[in-house]
Amino acid sequence: MKFACISIDFDEITEYQAIHGIEASKTQLSVTQNCIENVRRLIYEENIPVTTFLTSQSLDYAYEGLKLEYSTGLTEAGNHSLNHRYDLGRLDYETIKKEIFGLHEQADSKGLKIKGFRSPGWHLSRNILKVIEELNYSYTSCMNPSTVYYLSKLLYIGFSFLKGVETSSVIHPPSDLLVHRPYFPDNKKPWKNSSKGKIVEIPMSTGSFPFILPFTGYFLFKFKKPSFFIPLTNDFAVFHLHGVDFLNENTREGQYLRGYEKVLGLPFAERFEILKRVINNLKSRGYVFMTLGNIEKEFRKTEK
Ligand SMILES: [Zn+2]
Repeated sequence: MKFACISIDFDEITEYQAIHGIEASKTQLSVTQNCIENVRRLIYEENIPVTTFLTSQSLDYAYEGLKLEYSTGLTEAGNHSLNHRYDLGRLDYETIKKEIFGLHEQADSKGLKIKGFRSPGWHLSRNILKVIEELNYSYTSCMNPSTVYYLSKLLYIGFSFLKGVETSSVIHPPSDLLVHRPYFPDNKKPWKNSSKGKIVEIPMSTGSFPFILPFTGYFLFKFKKPSFFIPLTNDFAVFHLHGVDFLNENTREGQYLRGYEKVLGLPFAERFEILKRVINNLKSRGYVFMTLGNIEKEFRKTEK
């Protein structure tokens, strides 16, 4: 069987302000609140479940908007940390613990049962893995092994430095580029598979052709062609999308972020068509869409 998943990080306005260095808005804005209707359209029109990763800023909006879907299993909730620190992987154990346990407790108080984690800015560090094991989670989906993404980030950080612009982007060790299918992370070297590993890491997929494109909204809506989004490892197609990918460009939030988030340059109607074409191409090739939690279960069965 071949597995596919649409996962969506519900990053909020304050998190975009932090990464792009944008001044705070005077009015109350929410990406999550405004993208949920479009996420629900995807779920019901394509008849697929999705996995969502929440921060303290997006938790309430997501919970209100997707209450039904969380309760029926059409949507799975995941932990994306309390404050969405891009450098989470580099922080000390105690801070990481506060960030991850903090969000877990908030979600738990709403009755959301979480068993998976994605780090902001991608990367699975030793301390993150340790905290995740303490929480008894069953999976993480932190790694982004795309060379194209890695090089473009390196260029971005380099140019920002030359221009004297501050950026909170963080570059991770190149060993992250080695992981292309689910595995059991070693607690000393989390990019390596270990027979003793308890958690399953489910990395983002990259295309096999032509440039090892990462399965993110930015590249999906730029390169558009379904044939570019066939995973390098034939059996797992894991997309890491964001709330902003589902945001209508004409909302106040869309206008506010438009100069910073390139996907908003394309009308949502077009983005939606591209996403559906890519999903249907994968379906026609035998991929079954499920939540990350179910992919993790299926993976454990095959690895036994
Ligand atoms: Zn995020």
